[in-house]
Amino acid sequence: MIPYGRHDVSQADIDAVVEVLRSNWLTQGPMVPRFERGVADFAGAAHAVASNSATSSLHVACLALGVGPGDRVWTSPNTFVASANCALYCGAEVDFVDIDPCSYNLSVERLSEKLATAKINGTLPKVVIPVHFAGQPCDMPGIHALGREYGFRIIEDASHAIGASYLGTKVGSCQHSDITVFSFHPVKIITTAEGGMATTNDPDLAERMVRHRSHGITSMPDRMRPRPADEVWNYQQIDLGFNYRMTDLQAALGLSQLGRLEQFVKIRREIARSYDEALADLPVILPWQAPSTLSSYHLYPIRIRESLCGKTQRQVYDALTAAGIAVNLHYIPVYRHPFYEAKGFKVGHCPEAEKHYREAITIPIHPTLSISEQELVIESLEMIVKL
Ligand SMILES: *Cc1c(COP(=O)(O)O)cnc(C)c1O
Repeated sequence: MIPYGRHDVSQADIDAVVEVLRSNWLTQGPMVPRFERGVADFAGAAHAVASNSATSSLHVACLALGVGPGDRVWTSPNTFVASANCALYCGAEVDFVDIDPCSYNLSVERLSEKLATAKINGTLPKVVIPVHFAGQPCDMPGIHALGREYGFRIIEDASHAIGASYLGTKVGSCQHSDITVFSFHPVKIITTAEGGMATTNDPDLAERMVRHRSHGITSMPDRMRPRPADEVWNYQQIDLGFNYRMTDLQAALGLSQLGRLEQFVKIRREIARSYDEALADLPVILPWQAPSTLSSYHLYPIRIRESLCGKTQRQVYDALTAAGIAVNLHYIPVYRHPFYEAKGFKVGHCPEAEKHYREAITIPIHPTLSISEQELVIESLEMIVKL
């Protein structure tokens, strides 16, 4: 089977991990801050805080922004469940803003309308989490402007989008947000097996995320509470945090992969361009790229409309799978999952996201996809959808 996404681990990546295994540190040691500095410099942010997954990074990002019971967090329905679950971990409520029909990202128009209503009802969100779906950056200046107007904070879920840019700035620079989160799961752009990173330009937010990553403990003398001079206090727990630390093994792999990031994104863009050209005449809808952005092409989602090609999404999905192509579907709208339905979300909540869900198929795109494999995908798709 040709996978829809796959990691690319080189001998140099392996050597970097083995070197750590022979060193004095296995868990968070000298490699983690080096990887953090590398990602912060790459993205153009002042600070970066690593963790054991993007899910953990989203959680500590919400905690750092003070999300708690009684608060509301809004995100896109067209995402992995982690973008919404992070708010529930904090005891907050989640709601979803429908997507834009072109970019499949959270729609700024829908957001603007929903905020106007929420203001009247006294139900404004504390935090909005836009998701750069498939690596295509959201309209961050638009979302940021609404943030100023309505007083919400912004966490970018950039799990798909390290290496992407908008308006000449890299995703992760936090020019239009408080915090940006990256994922290093193996299907993402670079990998640490499991791992995540949060970037920010705010030193207080960075410090709070560091603390929440490690039990809520600090050893900074100016953060510790006063205690009698004859007692030994080399650290104190001052918040309720977690053990979300990244290991040095992972950071070494991440640092080595970071050196290959530009190349990975270049290959992904080349594969995307080949699909754009080869599939242009087929009766399917290809992904759209906003003129001011450069996608990192984590995914290449096409849309199948029965009225265009005479086949249903299900038929095309099954036929591609039967041809040995492990296609995928991104995404089931988060609120359609049974857990969220039990919270009262109903079909019809975000019509564009539901329409997308009924039409989308993710075809393979990753740095190890060979030319002949890509040709097989193209030929299979041609055979399946041509009338
Ligand atoms: C992969 C992903 C996550 C979670 O990342 P992990 O590192 O696996 O925790 C969160 N949000 C989106 C949009 C993702 O694709």
